[in-house]
Amino acid sequence: MDKLISLAKRKGFIFPTAEKYGGLQGFWDWGPLGVELKNNIKKEWWKKFVQQRADVVGLDSAIITNPTVWAKSGHLDKFKDSLVECKQCHLRFKEDEVKDKCPSCGGELTPAKQFDTMFKTHAGPVEDSASEVYLRPETAQNIFVNFENILNTSRVKVPFGIAQIGKAFRNEITPGNFIFRSREFEQMELEFFVDPKEDKKWFDYWVEESYNWFIDFGISKDNLRKRPQDKKELAHYAKETVDLEYNFPFEPGWNELIGIANRTDYDLKAHGFSYKDDKSEYVPYVIEPSFGVERPALMFLLEALQSVEGGRTKTTQSTKEEELVLKLDKRLAPIKIAILPLTKKEGPVNLAKQIFDQLKLNFACQYDEVASIGRRYRRQDEIGTPYCLTVDFDSLNDKQVTVRDRDTMKQERVAVAELSAYFQDKFKE
Ligand code: ATP
Repeated sequence: MDKLISLAKRKGFIFPTAEKYGGLQGFWDWGPLGVELKNNIKKEWWKKFVQQRADVVGLDSAIITNPTVWAKSGHLDKFKDSLVECKQCHLRFKEDEVKDKCPSCGGELTPAKQFDTMFKTHAGPVEDSASEVYLRPETAQNIFVNFENILNTSRVKVPFGIAQIGKAFRNEITPGNFIFRSREFEQMELEFFVDPKEDKKWFDYWVEESYNWFIDFGISKDNLRKRPQDKKELAHYAKETVDLEYNFPFEPGWNELIGIANRTDYDLKAHGFSYKDDKSEYVPYVIEPSFGVERPALMFLLEALQSVEGGRTKTTQSTKEEELVLKLDKRLAPIKIAILPLTKKEGPVNLAKQIFDQLKLNFACQYDEVASIGRRYRRQDEIGTPYCLTVDFDSLNDKQVTVRDRDTMKQERVAVAELSAYFQDKFKE
């Protein structure tokens, strides 16, 4: 994990926010490569669960929410943690995570108090209770509140789903384990509305779909498991929940990656909605695959990172050091192709720049002419670039370049005129 955190910072994936001013616990900034990775994860999720389906539509709703939404949904009453505070050092802990003394200084603890995990702020110039609003702790609720708007405008029929990707905020008591538990994070949620008689069938279906989405990206089955929640763990709205857990490299290893819940008719009833078909009127049940973005991003990075003692290339210089390779799935890699002229001479440089200008129209590319070719390959390996393309003096005569594969390190000559088609084929799904 330490290796990954250091790589993430060194290469510009993830920075602690406001680092210059001491940071802000539980908040992170995504650098140039991080934002590409995150966008790719969201794009792939949307493609699979919205674009490629006829029964799911999308939504992008407001983050700051009318408090009645949270009163109706039960969050104002239930979305709380039970906290104790140390009378000596004033640190706070979740009641169920400590025994009778402060784990930090051994001080005496206060009786437990309810702590609201939603962030509250005010809309408008007056800070009174009438102007109180909340930053959403989940993207789901505004999907439910828009149920009728979408029914009336989108020609959808049960069974159907509404998906949303966006920020969520939770004032977590113990943020930590890098981005795993953040106070500001993103969710990719799907609320799938079904006939109550078919809830089990659809619940099982979405557990499988969600699990397979990760397996399709090469996540090892040894590190990913489905764990049904006990009755006593279930959220106030849930009849059944399965967490997909990943074996993270911190304690306790198996932790929730995402969750799939049967939310029953709890939310639609709470907001006073029902559904009419040709035969009857009823309140649909909701099956919810709720994905975060940060935890999957962390998992994809952890699964991809390989460190090779002594290096993969056997030249005398590089065999001394450890080499890092980020074997990200091609679809998730922030940069798809690096274009590297072998010399700084005008001919190869001009050709390399022409190739860059052409390929960047369809692929995220990086042009790099600084340092030895070995160093440049390793820079690209560390950030997970699947292909490096080198331009040399021969390229000027034979109109061919060399393409190197990140994982096999195999190289092949490809005609410049064929490059677009060559990479279209390589990135074909
Ligand atoms: P936990 O039990 O770990 O606090 P949760 O059960 O409260 O998680 P859900 O309410 O089911 O989480 O949220 C759905 C998904 O949103 C989670 O599976 C996770 O991927 C993501 N998520 C929730 N809280 C956080 C957080 N604080 N930081 C990053 N991602 C989060």
